[in-house]
Amino acid sequence: MRVSGPAAGPALRGLTGSSIPPPRVATRARVFDPDGGPIDDGLVLWFPAPASFTGEDVAEFHVHGGTAVLAALIEVLAARPDVSPAEPGDFTRRAFDNGKLDLTQAEGLADLVDAETEAQRRQALRQLDGELGEVCEAWRAELVAALAHAEADIDFPDEDLPEGVAESVRHKISALHESIARYLDDDRRGERLREGFYVVIVGAPNVGKSSLLNRLAQRDAAIVSARAGTTRDVIEVHLDIAGFPTILADTAGLRAVADEIESEGVRRALDRAARADLKIAVFDATSAAGGDERETRRLVDDNTLVILNKTDLHMPSGAVTVNGCTAIPVSARTGAGLDSLVSQLQLAAAQRVGTGAAPAITRARHRDALQSCLDSLARYQMGAAPELAAEDLRLAARALGRITGRVDVEDILDVVFRDFCIGK
Ligand code: GDP
Repeated sequence: MRVSGPAAGPALRGLTGSSIPPPRVATRARVFDPDGGPIDDGLVLWFPAPASFTGEDVAEFHVHGGTAVLAALIEVLAARPDVSPAEPGDFTRRAFDNGKLDLTQAEGLADLVDAETEAQRRQALRQLDGELGEVCEAWRAELVAALAHAEADIDFPDEDLPEGVAESVRHKISALHESIARYLDDDRRGERLREGFYVVIVGAPNVGKSSLLNRLAQRDAAIVSARAGTTRDVIEVHLDIAGFPTILADTAGLRAVADEIESEGVRRALDRAARADLKIAVFDATSAAGGDERETRRLVDDNTLVILNKTDLHMPSGAVTVNGCTAIPVSARTGAGLDSLVSQLQLAAAQRVGTGAAPAITRARHRDALQSCLDSLARYQMGAAPELAAEDLRLAARALGRITGRVDVEDILDVVFRDFCIGK
């Protein structure tokens, strides 16, 4: 149980009946109800401001985790007029307000708590460490410096500004535009890792799609959770494929149909396939020439793993290819060939979701802000009047500032005075 704010010290003293322990040292203490008897025998910790997670005074009560102990502790804390229960995210919000974390780090912390796989955990920890925020802040610092120079040109035309200021600003902005554009061109790797790698199984009816899904769910991959999809005819299973969170969706069988309900199922299957990060197209080894498979063949492209199922009934003599992709022979019944399918899945996930050297963009919020920054920089480069150009730079810097949550105009002035010594 943790208390943050000015009441932390009084609460700690009040509940232990003794003086505040030395900072950051776990200290044994009995915790009392001031109006009643002892509640528990545990440890207390004292983190005085500002060296605490929230930046405020923080007291922690480490007690035994039983329901009755916690209920009694909550009751005595809640009875204090200076203490109220925390809302979700309250502590992190205070840490942000006190400049302990930027917004990306707060998001990283939330992602770390939610991380279900190794790769997700690593990505979240990097963001919590501030890597993404640092990249954005470094860009913003460059922009703010450029803006300061551009504004100095407007505001102080009579001052002795260094030669070629406008030219060097244009150069810097063009380089910045290129860096941010390159950064955005990342194939959504970070978002995919955060949200899950979406794999859709497609194929004609009865080729063994459901059997394959069940096999994959039970084998090398641990099921994280299984639930019916948002539509009646799409089943989704969450898997951990070599550390990459993978959502595997089974869809309605694909074939040309007249029936209205079934054609709705097919429409949804096609819709899922179009949105998939990867498709698994399943064919039946016993009916390879079947007309019903035409619909599936149409979906096979380089973003597809082709599977030839039921090879326990019929194993073709040579390799089978569909639209130039070599099929992986498997049997959902016996499990033959599944290892090979799983390693292909791992490879595909690592290629498309893997963590890179640069800290990842992990949310649409980051992407939108970076895009809006790029748009402003592009407008700037179109060469408007100096006043408008400066406004474009200001908007671009603001967009970057939104990512870390640090939008601050004072620092523009700081750079003006530091760089040019105007009004000395
Ligand atoms: P779906 O309609 O594509 O989802 O196909 P199902 O998974 O429901 O399978 C259709 C039928 O094929 C069922 O009777 C399965 O038992 C059978 N089946 C699926 N995979 C295999 C396999 O690898 N070998 C054999 N012999 N039968 C299979």
